[in-house]
Parts: sequence; C-alpha cells; structure tokens
Amino acid sequence: MTSISEGTFESSESYRTALQQLDAVAKRLALDPGVHERLRYPRRALVVSVPTRMDDGRTEVFLGYRVHHCTILGPTKGGIRYHPGVTLPEVSALAMLMSWKCALMQLPYGGAKGGVACEPGSMSRRELEHMTRRYTAEIMLVIGPDLDIPAPDMGTDEQTMAWIMDTYAMTQGRTVPGVVTGKPLLVGGSAGRRDATGRGLVYVLSQAVREAGLELRGSRVAIQGFGNVGSVTARLLWREGALVTAVVDAKGGVFNSRGLDIRALALHAKEAGTVAGFPDADPITTADLLELPCDVLVPAALGGQITEQNADRVRAKIIAEGANGPTTPEADGILNDRGVRLIPDILANAGGVIVSYFEWVQGLQYHFWRESEINSRLQELMTRAFSQVNAMAKRERVDLRTAALMVGVRRVADAFELRGFYP
Ligand code: NAD
Repeated sequence: MTSISEGTFESSESYRTALQQLDAVAKRLALDPGVHERLRYPRRALVVSVPTRMDDGRTEVFLGYRVHHCTILGPTKGGIRYHPGVTLPEVSALAMLMSWKCALMQLPYGGAKGGVACEPGSMSRRELEHMTRRYTAEIMLVIGPDLDIPAPDMGTDEQTMAWIMDTYAMTQGRTVPGVVTGKPLLVGGSAGRRDATGRGLVYVLSQAVREAGLELRGSRVAIQGFGNVGSVTARLLWREGALVTAVVDAKGGVFNSRGLDIRALALHAKEAGTVAGFPDADPITTADLLELPCDVLVPAALGGQITEQNADRVRAKIIAEGANGPTTPEADGILNDRGVRLIPDILANAGGVIVSYFEWVQGLQYHFWRESEINSRLQELMTRAFSQVNAMAKRERVDLRTAALMVGVRRVADAFELRGFYP
C-alpha cells in the first residue's frame, strides 16, 4: 500500500493525524497487523465534478467527494461539508474518525464523510440548491438508506439535507426518508436533531466537570464557533448557569468577564450574521479566546486550532471538542503533561450522529418519537460511553482520547475478526 499512502493521503495534515492516532492505538491494543493495515485506508472514495450554473450565467465546476471508511458494522454514516478547504485526504480522515465514533457509541454504522470545496457563504440560495442537487446526482451510486446515509456538517444544514433527499427521491419515484438525516422536521426530520450535538456535549461535559470536582453552574466557558454546535452548547450551558464569557466566529468575537447574555447574542448573530459587534462586550480574536483563563474551552469550529504553537498557553482546565480534530497530536501531548482534561471529539460531539441514528430508525419505521424520549435516550448513550471511556482511561492509565479510540478501534477490529476475510 506504499503507493496509496504516499501518493494520495499522507500529504495531508489531517490524514497524518488520523493515522498517527490509529497507529498508536493499534500498538496499545496489539491489533492484528492485517486488520490494522485495512483500517488505515478508506474502503472506497468517490471524487466527482459538480458543474453548477451560477446566477451570472457562468458554469462553475466544484470538486466533490464521498468517502466510506469502513462497512464492517453496517451502512456508513457521516456529514457533508461545504468549505473551501475540503480535500480528499481531509474527508478521508474525517470518515475514519466517524468509524471510531460510531463504534464507540455502539451504533450499527461504519464511518463516511463527504464534501464540496466551495464557499457557501458567498453563494446564493439558488446556486447552493443547484450545486447540492448535482452533487447528490453524482454521488447517487454510493448513498442510500442501507448503504450510506449523509448528514449535515460545516456549511450544510437542514435545507441542504431536504434537497439531497428530494433529489434522491426523484430518481426512485417515492419519498425515501432514510437516505439522509438532519432533515427539517416536516419532511422526516427528528425532534431534537438540531440541538443534538451541543446537548450531547453538555451531557458528557457535566460528567467531566463533576469528576474534576467542579460544577457547571458558575464555570467560565469560552467557545470557538457559533454555528450549530457552538450556539447550542452556549445556550444550554448558559441555561445551566455557566458563565459563557467569550464566543468567536469566523468574522470576529466578543468577551465579557461577567458572562454574555446568550439569548441576546443569538438574536444579534442572526441579524448581523456574526457575534462581532454585540453590545456590552469587548472584541476578542480566536487566538485570544484559546488562551483565555477559563474553566472550560469548547472549540466548535475548525480542525487544527490547538497546536504545539499555542497549547502551552491554553489556560482552560477542561477542553470539550465540539469540532472534529481541533487539537493536533503534538498539542495533545502538551495539554496532557499540563494536566488539562480533554474530552475528545469522537466522544464529545457524538450527540449528532446518535440522534441521526434515531432519525434514521424513525424514518425506516415511519414512526416518530417525542423529543423528551429522544433526549433521554441520547443522554443514556452519551453517559454510557463517557463511563466506558473513563473506566478504560483509568485502567490503562491513558488520556481520554486514547481511551475513546481504544474502545472504538477495538470494536471495529473485533468485527473484522468475527466476519473473517473475503474472499
Ligand atoms: P456551522 O457551519 O454551523 O458553524 C461553524 C462555526 O464556526 C460558525 O460560527 C463559523 O463562523 C465558525 N468559524 C468558521 N471559521 C472560523 C474561524 N476561523 N475562527 C472562528 N470561528 C470560525 O458548523 P457546525 O455544524 O457547528 O460544525 C462545527 C464543527 O463541529 C465542525 O468541525 C463539525 O465537523 C463539527 N461537528 C458538527 C456536528 C453537527 O451536528 N453539526 C456534529 C459533530 C461534529
């Protein structure tokens, strides 16, 4: 596999990070070398051109991807990202993380991810719809309710999922709710899906905070990103009585040592398109936010934010990774040495895929559950996973990321052993 690894994937920082994590855990678990090697690469990856007619009459061709990392535990599941930085290795790394996350949460899925390299913020609604429909048509061969089920990720939302479902449904001549999750409620979405990632994060964060002898009430929290994950996390923590002192998004940030009024901030962000400029607060940059003295730091925007350059200046006691891959392996080591407790992405942000799983099950059965039922099942799965990871961390004397990966990778590897080698 040398040619694949050198040529296609390992030139990317995010793929190297994913491999570094897998390789370290494989060693600890004494994984079978054949299984380990298979887990280092995606099962399949599709690259597509997405020609889109722009509003000014031009045709723009975007590059799109859909990657299935592993199908050993069931159909694949993972988000679709619209962002200029989307590349094949990045999507492949994220698909691998999804495999560990689904296995950790005991969901019957393998990991997948997709995306289109584009700037969604500068595209009109019509352009986005056309691009989404064409992208869906191009990846049609590899998605389906028992094959691969996409969901929203950065730059995509409920509307994007509705367009994907509609495009798929048109080719089948019937509505197929199980083909995507994260849909609007009216067309087969699940109660609680919109808040699921932030809510799940708050469930595990409460456990970690208690373990550290702290309380959520009165804790000072800094959040990077005020999209789906960041804004819901901020709202729920604020309701629990935490002081959310700082929030940044792509256009700027705000800080108030007495805590921001999150309801008012959400209204401001909705109108202004950014948290920046919120009254009764001082401006703050992402770099400042990451180094702010606080109890809890929630990176909920991009990957690669906490690195060896700034990890020794992070002053939070607990980090809960809302985003995927916000901390590099080098930074992990520094934070560990400094006693910062980090709840890793595959645990902290798994609420989204859990309620996506609930949505998929509801869609297949045409039977929908109450939000209270969904939230309590979500809490049950999140707290069970936290306890398993925490127990593994104590038993093996490792940090929570290593422990979470050990639980997830072990389950996937065991399934490989059980199913055997084809042909
Ligand atoms: P989103 O598009 O709704 O929001 C992203 C937020 O990040 C926005 O507020 C944006 O302004 C901000 N941002 C972008 N660039 C930034 C920068 N350079 N500095 C500061 N802020 C910046 O996306 P989301 O769905 O909230 O996802 C955020 C992260 O969480 C991603 O890493 C995603 O993979 C991960 N995640 C999302 C879900 C989900 O259910 N939405 C589930 C699991 C993981």
